[in-house]
Amino acid sequence: MNVCIDTNCEGYKNELEEVIRAFSPYLTLDESGDVVGAFLVIEGNRVLTKISSPLLKEMSREYLLTDGLSELYLKRYLKRFLKRDLYDYFAALTGVDLSYGSLTGIRPTKLLYELIDEGKGRDELVDFFRVSPAKADLIAEIVDVQKGVISTELDKQDWFVNVPFCPSRCHYCSFLSEVIRPKKSNLPAYVEALIRDITCVEARKERRAIYMGGGTPTSLSAEQLDRVLAAIDAKGEEFTVEAGRPETLTAEKLAVMKARGVTRVSVNPQTFKQETLDLVGRRHTVEDIFEAYRLVRAAGSFDVNMDLITMLPGESLDDLKRSIDIAIDLSPENITVHSLSIKRGSIFAETKYDNFSDGLAEKMSDYALEALERAGYRPYYMYRQKNTSGRLENIGYAKEGKVCKYNIDIMEETHDIYASGAGAISKRLFGNGRIERLAEVKEIKGYLERLDEMLEKKIAFFRD
Ligand code: SF4
Repeated sequence: MNVCIDTNCEGYKNELEEVIRAFSPYLTLDESGDVVGAFLVIEGNRVLTKISSPLLKEMSREYLLTDGLSELYLKRYLKRFLKRDLYDYFAALTGVDLSYGSLTGIRPTKLLYELIDEGKGRDELVDFFRVSPAKADLIAEIVDVQKGVISTELDKQDWFVNVPFCPSRCHYCSFLSEVIRPKKSNLPAYVEALIRDITCVEARKERRAIYMGGGTPTSLSAEQLDRVLAAIDAKGEEFTVEAGRPETLTAEKLAVMKARGVTRVSVNPQTFKQETLDLVGRRHTVEDIFEAYRLVRAAGSFDVNMDLITMLPGESLDDLKRSIDIAIDLSPENITVHSLSIKRGSIFAETKYDNFSDGLAEKMSDYALEALERAGYRPYYMYRQKNTSGRLENIGYAKEGKVCKYNIDIMEETHDIYASGAGAISKRLFGNGRIERLAEVKEIKGYLERLDEMLEKKIAFFRD
């Protein structure tokens, strides 16, 4: 069914359209489709909503506002009312219930924190937002696991360092990473620029956690890696380096990382099925993953994360189960399970790969949760991306006492981020929900050319 929105709340129109997108493929947002009206009027402390279209009987509701609401809360509530009503209307129209109900555009755990602040809790997710009881339990469990880690050390900041270079491009990837070309690479110039970027601001807060991602930071040579890590100058804080491609890890690079204070390494299989790795452009073998893991363990006491992806092309439930089981047998401290998202700019999006699964994605996600919890892992952070099959989530799981602080901070937006590198986004929190961001130029050539200008802006951005 093709539908579009007409509303008297223009400021929320995009978010209302997101509810249509959440029902894909049962509903398609199309300006020439049937018009669904989503209207509200405020009369004193009463809010009257009305959803109507030629497709289904009109739905009207009345909500009561508490006295003295700030403008921020009033907007928040009005948006929630209309989105919830639209969700109910579309659920009745299509006969489909979504696991995350009317939640779009907000991280589920962040919403639960907001609800707790409002004196509500997990049940509100089910009763008002129409989240399934199982997902509401999952969200509540994550909030519980985060206790004692979240919102501590608020006087500190996190660091992010971006190395957007990879040996080849994965077909699901939309990051602006450069595929390394041995002779004509921008990598040497990028390393020099990145070191200037990392060290440009003199007076900064103490650091809480560092995350070097990309891209594949272990695409750097051992010598380049050593120079960048020396510029970061870790002092014993949590420090993650993503070795997204196992074939880029060597004993020499791991020795450099150990000597420079790296505490956590991400070795990302995505799947343990060779045919799938070949199909998605990873250009490494399953054996490379085992070898990288062996090297990391031999190099000393790093915590290890492994990323896996559900709904990769051609994979059955048994394939996913096998990958999860192998990862559990290897016993890394963290396992992150992503739902395949078809992102704009990726090869999958260009080739119009369809990841609609009719229930398979849910079965995969359920198996991952069940098997990992049985093996002693607990979910500790989550986020949802657009265009995943079943609108499912990405979940980081950790063994007891092994959560990655950086992942929690970035998801829950609890700390300033000092970010360096092409496309990196610095963040400052000013209280009362006010957050300012500063993005560096995404494209590598532009980043190299405009570095001076960006560093000036960054110095001003972090000045008190
Ligand atoms: S390793 Fe990561 S950043 Fe590099 S191409 Fe694959 S998904 Fe993208």
